[in-house]
Amino acid sequence: MAKRGMLIVLSGPSGVGKGTVRKALFETGDTDFSYSISMTTRKPREGEVNGVDYYFVSKEEFEENIRNGEMLEYAKYVDNYYGTPLKYVNETLDQGKDVFLEIEVNGAMQVRANCPDAVFVFLTPPDLMELKHRLIGRGTDAMDVINKRIKKAVGEIRMMRNYDYAVVNDEVSNAVDRIQMIIRSERLRVTRVMPDYEQMIGDE
Ligand code: 5GP
Repeated sequence: MAKRGMLIVLSGPSGVGKGTVRKALFETGDTDFSYSISMTTRKPREGEVNGVDYYFVSKEEFEENIRNGEMLEYAKYVDNYYGTPLKYVNETLDQGKDVFLEIEVNGAMQVRANCPDAVFVFLTPPDLMELKHRLIGRGTDAMDVINKRIKKAVGEIRMMRNYDYAVVNDEVSNAVDRIQMIIRSERLRVTRVMPDYEQMIGDE
């Protein structure tokens, strides 16, 4: 049986640039992990594609998935559900491939509880004003939504202490480099490498 893959969780306040960093990371082409596409009840933004950016579903469909135990984690965020379908993550990890999640902090804490050997990376804004400017600059949300998100961000930054690594998103390319460095190091952890050697030396 293949060694189970590693689960990498990128999280942090909304607007910090998780989506941008994640896309840049996958665009480098030298990623050998798979992205888990989230499910949401939020309406698609312009340019977003179903099955690429998210699986866009109705509230009823999402709640049905929760009831059937089909979500690894989920959270209600600014009046919408967001969550990670369990099946894809499990099947991919079982094939020995690493899986990458990009999720908000409450969901990340559920993953922490269920998958203690996952790697938790917290993306931080250089400062809160910068975060506000980015949310406004994105031009996709109304001002009251932005203020709601900023308030939430302050609480979210306090949650950094629950993570393994903190990556400042000062420049997207720097953040990508740091995340790649983390993943490379994590793959060298004795606890991840030892199973191969146990087979070799007959200590299974
Ligand atoms: P947005 O509406 O800007 O696409 O996403 C809002 C927030 O939901 C972001 O912080 C994003 O990272 C988070 N998010 C996206 N997918 C998931 C998911 O599957 N689970 C959880 N818990 N959060 C998610």
